[in-house]
Order: sequence, then C-alpha cells, then structure tokens
Amino acid sequence: MAVCLACGRHQIEPFLSFGRMPMADAFVDPASPGEEFFFNLAVGRCPGCTMVQLCERVPDARMFHDAYAYFSSTSARMRDHFARFAGEIIGRVADRAGAFVVEIGCNDGIMLDAFRDAGVRHLGVDPAGNVLAAARDRGLTVRQSFFTRDSAADIAAAHGPADVIAAANVVCHVADIHSLFDGVVRLLTADGLFIFEDPYVGAIVAQNAIDQIYDEHVFYFSAASVHGLAAAHGLELVDVTAQPVHGGELRYVLARGGRHAPSPRVEEWLSREAESGLGAAGTYAAFARRAAGIRDRLIAAIDGAAARGRRVAGYGATAKSSTIINYCGLGPAQVAFIADVTPGKQGKLTPGAHIPVRPPEYFRASPPDEAVLFAWNHEREILAKESWFAARGGRWLTYVPDVRYIPPDSASHA
Ligand SMILES: [Zn+2]
Repeated sequence: MAVCLACGRHQIEPFLSFGRMPMADAFVDPASPGEEFFFNLAVGRCPGCTMVQLCERVPDARMFHDAYAYFSSTSARMRDHFARFAGEIIGRVADRAGAFVVEIGCNDGIMLDAFRDAGVRHLGVDPAGNVLAAARDRGLTVRQSFFTRDSAADIAAAHGPADVIAAANVVCHVADIHSLFDGVVRLLTADGLFIFEDPYVGAIVAQNAIDQIYDEHVFYFSAASVHGLAAAHGLELVDVTAQPVHGGELRYVLARGGRHAPSPRVEEWLSREAESGLGAAGTYAAFARRAAGIRDRLIAAIDGAAARGRRVAGYGATAKSSTIINYCGLGPAQVAFIADVTPGKQGKLTPGAHIPVRPPEYFRASPPDEAVLFAWNHEREILAKESWFAARGGRWLTYVPDVRYIPPDSASHA
C-alpha cells in the first residue's frame, strides 16, 4: 500500500483499477516494436487530505523524454485557450516594470509566444528536448530541465525572482510535488503568484471521464486538496476559476500567505465540494461502478456493430484514449484504425492495443460505418470538421458521460 504523496500521513485507499496498462504516450513503431512497459493503472484517495492519486507510477524518465509525442500547438481550440491564459497573466504583471514570468512545462511554447509578443521577460522550463527545440526555434527563452527545488534556485540566481510562475496541465504530472512547490516558494517574489490549471477531479467524477486517468496524471486535484497542499508550503489559495478545456479544469492562483486577499470564489468552491461530498469515499466507489458499466456498454456497442457487419474505426489517438482502449481490451479486430492529426503518431500503433494510427485523410478516403470519438473533449470541433461523415450515414460513438451514438441510435441503423 502506498502512502499519500501529498500529505505523507495516510495510506491511499484504492477505488478503481484498470488492470495492466501500457504508458499512454508510448506509441509503437511497427518497424522496430521493442518491448513495451506495462504497469498496474489504479487510482486511490487519501482518507486524510482527500487527494486523489495514482497508486502505482511510471518513472518520470520513461515518460517525459526527447520523443514526447504531445505538442500543445496542434489544436486550434487549445491555442485560443492558452492565448487567453497568457493574456490573464500579462494583465496581472502589467503594472510591474521588468516583470518576469516563468512557465513550468512550457512544451513547444504555445503560451510563451504571447509573453514574447507582449514584451514580457519570460523563461520556459521543460524536460522534453524535442518540444523545447520547437520553442527555441521561434526565439523563445527556454531551459531544458524538470522544475525542482534545485533548478528553481538556479533560475532565481540566473534571472532573479519570478512575478508569476505558471503551469498548464503540468503540476498534476509531478509525483515529487513537494520539490515543485519548494521551487515555487524559492523563485517567487514576495507578492508573486503561482497560477496553474489541471483536470478537475469534480469534473472527472461528474462526467464519468474515466480516460482522464492515465500514467501521466499522478494527481486529480480539487480546490480542497490544493488548498491543503498550498498551506503545507506556506502558500495560500487566493483564487479558483473553472476552465472549459480537457473536459473541465480548475485554474488555481496561489500566493504567499497573507499577501493577497482571497477571492470569494475560493470559499464558494470549497463549500460546493464539501456539500457535494467530493472528498468522500462513497463518491469514488460510485464512480468506479459507473466506470465498469461504461466499459461493458462500450464493448457491447462495438461488438454489436461488428455483428451487424459494420466497420468500426476511431478518431483521436489521444494519450487518454489508451485507458479506455486497454480497459475495454480493444484491438485492431474491433477498431480497424484511429485517425489522428499528429504527424508523429501517424503510421504508429497505439500502446498495448496496437491499433494502427492513420491521418484524417485516410479516414476520409476509407470511412468506417461507425467511429469511436476518443477525443471526446473536442467533439464540437471534430464533428464540424468531419460533418460529411454523419451526412453520409456514419455514426459517432462516444462514452463520456455514458455510451451514446451521434446521431442517436434509431431503428433505421439496426
Ligand atoms: Zn493525503
């Protein structure tokens, strides 16, 4: 049994196991398949601080390496989101001469672009060399490393303290969360702000978004669990806002204790979570039962399509699709291929299940009868882009918050 990574005081209580799972981003090159790494994907809740977290982890060095496949800039909707996030940060430092902004996990620099364009001194920190090279090529200031208490001290010595430290979909990935928070405390100015956003466990539970659970997501934050984590480092949660990306995220603003008046939203979120029982064990036991139901219904829908002679493919070979694909035991016999816009994934096989990944052009040239929408959080964007598919009788199949067809199931398709 593992001890809670956040408070270090209690043993995690597992509530959902997905079984043997590959690394979500370890796409397989059919020309040199090599040996895949598997681990037991299970999540648990701390009975003390309520932090939801993975019970077993993949070593960081296996995940965030030079061949890291995810490039933030590939989605137009995410580009807009990050432009707004950067705009909020620029607004907060507008009255500070020579303000310095550090982004943890800057990826290919989607947000740093906005700081550079606004003339804000910036530094992006990321361990993945390939995505960082893309940022450096565009004239951004970057540093290849993890963000730790030691690297933060080096950054402070080289550049001075940071007015804002920002991170998007990064903090929840970091198992050594205390090193990251110590680094923030070292690097931040006296009035500085640490602003980060990550998938919200409340949204995951409310939407049955089981595929948000995968190796890279070590933590599943709530306002309450972040509030406690901040306090353990002398920081205070001073604002919380909901963000409509990745199926629902919260953006947290932290400051040194007593330096900023908290927004009334902090108390609102904490009360809402307490009233809805978000920290309670029963909430997660019920979530686990719904997850098993979705798995069973999705398998039945795909098997049913095959029984009617309908060809099934997928759309969006996202990292998170690995969870649902392997949890359901799907393979190329059930899902012929998965279309994806990311060039680095095309021609490869999905982790564990070995379903071929093809470009969207292949989906158009060889359309299936039914398409499982693995990138369900981009439903509107994808259905608009591929509107011809439903128009010619194709059906989308999604599984969040439950298994359903778009357009809805009807006798004419039976
Ligand atoms: Zn804990």
